[in-house]
Amino acid sequence: MMESKIPVGIIGATGAVGQRFISLLANHPWFEITDLLASERSAGRRYGDVVKWILDDPLPAQVADLAVRRADDGEADARVLFSALPAAEARTLEPLFASKGHFIFSNASAWRMEEDVPLVITEVNPNHLDMISHQQARRGWDGFIVCNANCTTTHLVGALHPLHLAFGVEKVFVATLQAASGAGYPGIPSMDLIDNVVPHSYGEEQKVETEPRKIMGAYKDGRFQFADILITAHCHRVPVLDGHTEAVSVALRQSATREDIIDAFQSYRQLPQELNLPSAPDPAVVVLEGMHRPQPRLDRMAGKGMATVVGRIRPCNLLDWRFSLLGHNTIRGAAGGSILNAELMAYWGKLAT
Ligand code: NAP
Repeated sequence: MMESKIPVGIIGATGAVGQRFISLLANHPWFEITDLLASERSAGRRYGDVVKWILDDPLPAQVADLAVRRADDGEADARVLFSALPAAEARTLEPLFASKGHFIFSNASAWRMEEDVPLVITEVNPNHLDMISHQQARRGWDGFIVCNANCTTTHLVGALHPLHLAFGVEKVFVATLQAASGAGYPGIPSMDLIDNVVPHSYGEEQKVETEPRKIMGAYKDGRFQFADILITAHCHRVPVLDGHTEAVSVALRQSATREDIIDAFQSYRQLPQELNLPSAPDPAVVVLEGMHRPQPRLDRMAGKGMATVVGRIRPCNLLDWRFSLLGHNTIRGAAGGSILNAELMAYWGKLAT
């Protein structure tokens, strides 16, 4: 569809999410990696020499030869930048780039809950991208910041949104079993995680309890209105490499049978699927039968890691229905989610440089 590929850069290119960006963008039909940025520890060196590559896919040769630039001077050739920075660095560096006219698609939590920053899951709230013009006017930027959600939130909303559209979601209880790669590289020391389950910080639980309400809420005339959904989360890190599992109970505003719920998941096709965007999973939600699925090793690559997998759908003794869900945390939960947002904006012609 694109006449020529759009140059893109990755900030935080050496980390766990940065590497996913490289892997997903290396042969992308619309985007071409031109800039790799990281801290001064990596800057000035050949990417292949500085990165500790942790993915199964080989490091693409053309990327290995690129020189890493330092991010803290806010300079990059590509106008479109995917950010995989830690939150503290994102807080200062992302607005610096946006003020210089760059389009930032951020994985960090730093700007997600700002009142003029769209927090977008492409299937759920693409209309929130209309906020960009207000953000630019308010901050005097030619660029912008668009965030994608926390990895656990992304897949939780991936399963809740079809139910919310069909029946209305009133209350959610979720207990998570989150993969090691969610903590970045090298993450939690192996001696702390092997043979163990590590309860997460309250900060993670707070993200999972609030981000879905912004994403599934309304947008009108430069204001977000949070969805009226009560969520309680219990988050844990487990010794799984990739793929977050979540045990979910929901109270619905309208009654639904098990068949109704399965139909809501299976008929869920949104804008990315209708437009056939390059990274869009179709189906977006994969429903598995049987009491022993989903499992991270077997199911995390559903839809090339972009789908949310649900199973074990059954009545709940406390709320109405319960189920398990699984999703890849560094693909759909991070880099892939950002890329899908950028694909939609590219499709709309809003990433012209
Ligand atoms: P990570 O493995 O720790 O990587 C951090 C990256 O940021 C590295 O490339 C590092 O470069 C760079 N960096 C650190 N300090 C910097 C500075 N002062 N200036 C420029 N670059 C700097 O972290 P990650 O897991 O990839 O996570 C990246 C972001 O995505 C975080 O905000 C995280 O919360 C979010 N996220 C992660 C996941 C996940 O599943 N992992 C999911 C969703 C969102 P050097 O190598 O040069 O130090």
